[in-house]
Amino acid sequence: MSFEDIPVDVGVIYEGERIRWKDTFVELGGPRVEHKFELVRVRPLDQVEDGKITIIGPDLKDMEPKSTHPLGILVEVAGKELEEEMEGVFERRIHEFINYIQGFMHLNQRYDIHLRLSMASFNKGLNSFEYVGKVMIRLYKSEIPIIEKIQVTFITDPEKVKELYQEALKVYEARDARIRGMRDEDVDVFYGCTLCQSFAPTHVCVITPQRYANCGAISWLDGRAASRVDPKGPIFVIEKGECLDPIKGEYEGVNKVLKEKSGGVIERVWLYTAFGYEHTSCGCFEAIAFYIPEVDGLGIIDRDFKGKAVNGLTFSAIADITAGGTQVDGFHGISIEYMRSPKFLQADGGWNRIVWVPKRVKEKVKDFIPPELVDKIPTEEDVSNVEELKEFLKRVGHPVVERWKALEEAKPPEEKPAEEAVIGPLPTVTAAVGGFRVIFENARIYADRVIIKRIK
Ligand code: SF4
Repeated sequence: MSFEDIPVDVGVIYEGERIRWKDTFVELGGPRVEHKFELVRVRPLDQVEDGKITIIGPDLKDMEPKSTHPLGILVEVAGKELEEEMEGVFERRIHEFINYIQGFMHLNQRYDIHLRLSMASFNKGLNSFEYVGKVMIRLYKSEIPIIEKIQVTFITDPEKVKELYQEALKVYEARDARIRGMRDEDVDVFYGCTLCQSFAPTHVCVITPQRYANCGAISWLDGRAASRVDPKGPIFVIEKGECLDPIKGEYEGVNKVLKEKSGGVIERVWLYTAFGYEHTSCGCFEAIAFYIPEVDGLGIIDRDFKGKAVNGLTFSAIADITAGGTQVDGFHGISIEYMRSPKFLQADGGWNRIVWVPKRVKEKVKDFIPPELVDKIPTEEDVSNVEELKEFLKRVGHPVVERWKALEEAKPPEEKPAEEAVIGPLPTVTAAVGGFRVIFENARIYADRVIIKRIK
């Protein structure tokens, strides 16, 4: 495949490339704009003009440096063997293919896309969506040969993006609804996805009927369609094998595949919990379930939430702890659709354990929260810090309050004073952190907190 007519390099080596704001020429989508989307539709053969690229609204060259714009990407494909069920998986490849372009960064999916074009690539001549469209069309046709015809439309006109965004939301909802009602127990295979390993090398998504992919873009049905089209591709079959724990969601076959695909780093996974051997999180998750130790409950924060969560942290601060493809106890990347699943964090208590959620997310999943709990789970409008949260949960009788009583009863007796608890002095301990050396000699230390300050 040749990209000689593209002014910058194109290749898999650019996939993990990050473009910082200072190096950015333009930003498309992202948190600063309300309407953005990407959508793939399967159309009849006579409705697609192969190779056609359309731009509705300003092109890259018409944009001011350091400006931000709404963006819609509509990819229409046709082919005798194509089925509507394949749309979700084709759509997820937009992320991969655009990231192959040197100086173009694509993050997230569906209604949440965030792209940046670097100043360096713009200056090299990458100044039109025409180039982006050409790359996408060539990659789609070479990677998925059953696509016979493909046309791509880029929309930057704000009114048009807004209009088509509403249409896209309806398509996503219809896709998600198709899988509801299917149970993990009813299938012999799950699907795995390693598309995000360019960003998180040990991450593997395990996609089951009741645990949607972290990015919210690939369902079990999508996984099935993708693995049929391209059995050796990034989305593959996982034989479930023996169920080792139906509550936590541990399967022999899943453990085996995870170990192999994560290079031996992840040995076990529990699909329905945020603790222990929880599912890994890449960076594309739609939301995060995070532990709040003061109330022994889990909060949820989603990518669109602009303020600080009840624990005082922003989405990006919590995402930094969660992402990277490892298992971080109590920090768990999830999709919005997983919150609608009966298996949602079932080993942790499910919705009974959720103590805080942004209002917009609550509205989206309200019909799937047990009715008796809906008013007992506060949002940013009800509480703004952990103390207020505690009071709220007590006042409404949230089920997590019962756990506090049980924890109180299970507490060990008062600890002995420090000097009695320490047997003998510690040897000399030296710690060097950030240019400081801290030396403890013959120390007996008992402290709730150690604060080290520079002495002026
Ligand atoms: S989040 Fe998971 S399912 Fe989605 S693209 Fe990444 S690895 Fe695949």
